[in-house]
Amino acid sequence: MKLTFQNHLGKNLNYRRVNVNSSSFIEEIRNLFKPVDEHTKAAIDRRNQELPHHVKVPGQTLGKVGIGCEGTHGVFPKCNFACRPCYHSEEANRIRIDGPHTLSEIEKQMKFLWQNRASYAHAQLIGGEVSLLSPEDHSKAIEIMRRYGREPMSFTHGDVDPEYIKKVALLPDGNRRFKRISFAAHFDTTMIGRRGLRRTQIEADLDEYRKRFADIFHSLKKSHGVKFFLAHNMTVVPSNVDQIPGVIERCRFFGYSMFSFQPAAFVGDEKKWKQDFNTLDPDRIWELIEEGAGAKLDYKVLQVGDTRCNRTAWGFYVGEKWFPYIDGNDDKDVKARDLYLNTFGGVHFNAPLWSLLPKLTTLAVKNPTIIFVAISWLLRKLKKVGGIRAVILDGIYPMTFVMHRFMNEDLVDKAWDLMNQGVQSDDPIIKETQERLAACSYAMAHPELGTVVPACVQHSVLDKKENKVLVNLLPLNKRSVNSDESNPANAVSRS
Ligand code: SF4
Repeated sequence: MKLTFQNHLGKNLNYRRVNVNSSSFIEEIRNLFKPVDEHTKAAIDRRNQELPHHVKVPGQTLGKVGIGCEGTHGVFPKCNFACRPCYHSEEANRIRIDGPHTLSEIEKQMKFLWQNRASYAHAQLIGGEVSLLSPEDHSKAIEIMRRYGREPMSFTHGDVDPEYIKKVALLPDGNRRFKRISFAAHFDTTMIGRRGLRRTQIEADLDEYRKRFADIFHSLKKSHGVKFFLAHNMTVVPSNVDQIPGVIERCRFFGYSMFSFQPAAFVGDEKKWKQDFNTLDPDRIWELIEEGAGAKLDYKVLQVGDTRCNRTAWGFYVGEKWFPYIDGNDDKDVKARDLYLNTFGGVHFNAPLWSLLPKLTTLAVKNPTIIFVAISWLLRKLKKVGGIRAVILDGIYPMTFVMHRFMNEDLVDKAWDLMNQGVQSDDPIIKETQERLAACSYAMAHPELGTVVPACVQHSVLDKKENKVLVNLLPLNKRSVNSDESNPANAVSRS
């Protein structure tokens, strides 16, 4: 007799057939009930040991529940917008989109991440503009990433036809290819090139485009049951900083579950540095995000690396009011947070329910307190939002607010160079840069060097060199192909 099980890496890997009488079957059952696989546990412990002392605070999630997120690089550098600023080096738009290159590089990078970091993580499918890939190559890229346990989020400027998204999410016969897809769409007044609105200085002008993009996913869910997660990204510059509250207030219920703000830094193409980004004050920006959210956003109760890089507030709306999952002013919430961080580290919450439930059962049997803490947390939240009636009448709308501050490339260049020599700088600005790089939560893989680097290092130091090579390898004057036309990367496998 044969049964089919997924292995311990969860839904993202292929099903394997195992014999019920074999020891491997018993092993599979054991793995099913093991909350976290050894590989992931070791990766999280390693990250914990590597983390600099200054970020080892009670609410730190890195090195406790996970290792941070990951992203692709050099896989489709070209974009058809001309945003100011743009973190891409000037060569990026001289590199053609080439499906086989994209897929084979993603394969190498994801395999490296899977072998050398956790068995699963969130990863950004990022270039360039992802919709310049053919829909077939885009969906194959998502499949490769999932095969290596990565939960991909495709990064786009959002000027995309519904038909394109449909072709990514569905099979040619119209059936669902993916049960769930994730996109991060960038909309802001630094962007130049959107069809129908090439440029504007007024954020509100972009609202109909923000809505139109989200509506594509609502309609795909309605017609084909494809679930979605959407993040709204906005580059913050001196000319649009004061428009942040309005963007959130007007657009928060369009369908985006995350609003992420990136204060601009001096990185990428110098010709596009038109404003003084050093005047952007992170505290002021966060206040403006709070104003838009209509709530105080505690970014210290749960941290992702260094708060000078990342501020995150996880929560949900009931009606017009936003509530945090963990309220830093509530001792019981803080205790619940500590229990969560110390108990659920590395648990793959994106795994299918049949795989997740046995793992949660094991944790609950080992530590029954978590059941009581979870119930009490739920009751507290219910009371806060106004009871079941409020939930039924107003609904729950999950919403995370993020600010991610890339660093200036001259600082990263100096800091990274010294770090490679094992030198800690005395210069306060370079020291800060080194500290932030050491606590980085956003990694990119370099299989050829056998290492991962912070995304800041990628964009500030390595992109330029990488793109110079790619300009020669993939010049624009040759015809772009997709992977169906020239096929080596089609044969992706996880061996
Ligand atoms: S070091 Fe750079 S890429 Fe890493 S978390 Fe900080 S700002 Fe982000």
